[in-house]
Amino acid sequence: SLFKKQDYLPSFLQHLYDKYLPLQEGKIYVSEPDLVEHDPNCFSICIVTVDGTVYTVGESEKPFLIQSISKVFAYGMALEDHGRDYILTKVEVEPTGDSYNSIIKVEENSKRPYNCMVNTGAIAMTSLIKGKSPAHKLNRLLKMYQRYVGHPVYVDTSAVVSEQNQGDRNWAISYLLRNFGMISGDIKQTLDLYLQQCSAIINCRDLAVMAATLANQGINPITDQSAINPEYVKDLLSVMFTCGMYDFAGEWCYKVGFPAKSGVGGGILGVVPGVMGIGVFSPPLDKRGNSIRGIKVCEELSQQFQLHIFQPL
Ligand code: GLU
Repeated sequence: SLFKKQDYLPSFLQHLYDKYLPLQEGKIYVSEPDLVEHDPNCFSICIVTVDGTVYTVGESEKPFLIQSISKVFAYGMALEDHGRDYILTKVEVEPTGDSYNSIIKVEENSKRPYNCMVNTGAIAMTSLIKGKSPAHKLNRLLKMYQRYVGHPVYVDTSAVVSEQNQGDRNWAISYLLRNFGMISGDIKQTLDLYLQQCSAIINCRDLAVMAATLANQGINPITDQSAINPEYVKDLLSVMFTCGMYDFAGEWCYKVGFPAKSGVGGGILGVVPGVMGIGVFSPPLDKRGNSIRGIKVCEELSQQFQLHIFQPL
């Protein structure tokens, strides 16, 4: 259906931009000064098809932090480093229904975190990334991002430092995880790597290319480079589908119906497998941490182009 309507895509994206730019709601996540974009009116929508065509509207080059969207890619790296069977012993694939930084289910299920799209499971995945030293692990992560976006990706160190200084919840989560044997090793090193992973700077176009790479079985459609073993793409998409939108995940599946992941930086990454990747960036968030304009745009794209995976053909 999208391919039939592709000519119509640029004007529809412009229509969505004009319609939702005036929507003045939501709160912006700024911990402390960092380098990226926090203008509430910064707004961009970008689509990259699996044949590498790029459609974009708005400020698609403005930098923002990948934040929780990084959890998808770190999960992929943990799968590649250890294999599916081992990873399944370390994290479940169940939605929590709780907020992204909730600690409560760790105490309830003391075997494994529920899923890797919220902080508990994500910190566990980051702790499994292989490398000879902290620098080597970070370097492997950044090289992986580079494969997904097609150019070097850097970390906003000021964002890392500010999150380090006010991350009591993530410290608490990490200690509780270690208490139950769900992670091992040095907590500060794991948390530093997790915050560095979250503080990678990307833009809306990058986000759409990353999404398109997942839509294209792990091959970046712009560079033709492989970013992840294709065997694991379905693992990433399944968990994104059921757990990717924090405690809005169920409603998202119901209404929008394609796998997605959001981050408190204001980005939403959406994947229509075999068709295209979607990136939306707009900093104001709803109370669950999802970009308000981002949700609206994805709802309308899904309806207009019949992107819900259970849509009758
Ligand atoms: N840096 C954030 C944290 O772990 C990431 C949150 C998010 O995007 O959900 O607290």
